[in-house]
Amino acid sequence: MILRRIQEVPLQEYLVIHVECVQCNHIFGDDEDEFGICPQCETQQPESGSWAKEELAHISHLESQGMHEEAVADAMEVLHMATDIHYGDWPLAHSLAETIRRNCEAGGLVEQLQRHELLWKRIEAMEMGGDPDKVGRYERTRNPD
Ligand SMILES: [Zn+2]
Repeated sequence: MILRRIQEVPLQEYLVIHVECVQCNHIFGDDEDEFGICPQCETQQPESGSWAKEELAHISHLESQGMHEEAVADAMEVLHMATDIHYGDWPLAHSLAETIRRNCEAGGLVEQLQRHELLWKRIEAMEMGGDPDKVGRYERTRNPD
């Protein structure tokens, strides 16, 4: 399993999560593609979600079988890894959030949905200083649409 290290780098008055190259210590800037080629050592970075392919396939299998509760439990585990304070795979984290919300709705899993929303509040508080505006600004740099 390949995970990237992320570092908290002070930028202006708040903290932003930066992703490091898997090969060297280059820290990707906001205008650089953290899933592209490292500008320093030219290593192609692993695709988003490539470290969790098996888990993701299993989760969609569970969903297709109507096993929503099991799918949510597995997706939550991968989400914890994708949003770890020392590693980051934000596109995967957002796609997992969609999977979890969809399965919670399909399975009527109210309690699990609440736990999931609570986890995101904690992630935002931990990594963005708890300010939803800062989270929004950060996400816009990652998802320009
Ligand atoms: Zn590099």
